[in-house]
Amino acid sequence: MQATNSLRTVIVTGANRGIGFAIIERLLSEKTPFDIIFTARNGKLGQEAHQSLSTRYKASSSRLTFQQLDISNSVSIDEFVAWIKAERNSRFDVLVNNAGFGYLRESQQEQLDTININFFDTVDLTEKLLPYLAEDGKIINVTSENGLLSWQGQNIQKILSDPSMTREKLMELAKELRDKIKTGDFSKLGWSEIYDDSKALLNAYTRWVLVKMLKGDQQCYCMDPGWCRTDMGGKNAPLAVERGADTPVYLINLPFKLDEKYNGKFFMDRKLHKY
Ligand code: NDP
Repeated sequence: MQATNSLRTVIVTGANRGIGFAIIERLLSEKTPFDIIFTARNGKLGQEAHQSLSTRYKASSSRLTFQQLDISNSVSIDEFVAWIKAERNSRFDVLVNNAGFGYLRESQQEQLDTININFFDTVDLTEKLLPYLAEDGKIINVTSENGLLSWQGQNIQKILSDPSMTREKLMELAKELRDKIKTGDFSKLGWSEIYDDSKALLNAYTRWVLVKMLKGDQQCYCMDPGWCRTDMGGKNAPLAVERGADTPVYLINLPFKLDEKYNGKFFMDRKLHKY
């Protein structure tokens, strides 16, 4: 095994099951060794998954470390950031924002969890970690085809496709949507399905806001993993979970050098796709 400091440090959120877990498995199988930080909100589930992967991939040249991280809990985020500072010399190379939620029964609480986890909490984690992103590091946001502009109503399409979008305006818009979920009349604003809306907001954040916060050779991307058989995707989804890990790992392996063609863009099946 190589020393940690010579490896690229890759953080994956929500990795105890589904696509996040498949990303970790793919990274462990890659020829290039990584310093993989496997995170999950449930410490026990995360430890168990970490134990089983460490046993199965003991020949891997990558290093695998588990850290508890609940992106909806600011104390947990702060503890994770402190851990990166202390244990990784205040530096990491890639953040894969995979943790996500899609409501099942459309209760108001589930709709709130969806917008919070997929948008607000993901942004919170990203911005708290950003000061420690390597000068050529990457942020990969796992969003969805459902968040593409073509899935949104005309009014929302117009707002989210405006290049003059600022962080302040986007946050205001997202907060307005969250408030309207509480009163139950968000559709009047032109929003539709909260899951799709949460991913559309994260796409717009990546495209117009995050990209401007990056420096040097740092890059960010959005990507759709495809409809995969996970707890969220359901058993009738056409793709195996391993396929969902393919584009994120492809993006991790792209050169660590700013490429304007790709930076801030949306990917599906390893290819550029318009927002
Ligand atoms: P799963 O529901 O199978 O897994 C979701 C993961 O996110 C779980 O590990 C879950 O942890 C974790 N998670 C949820 N909330 C938090 C939180 N607050 N903090 C930390 N972790 C959290 O989903 P998938 O694997 O299918 O989806 C992964 C990503 O891919 C999501 O962002 C999803 O929106 C996106 N996606 C999925 C598609 C699909 O077809 N499956 C299609 C398009 C996009 P826990 O086990 O504790 O609940």
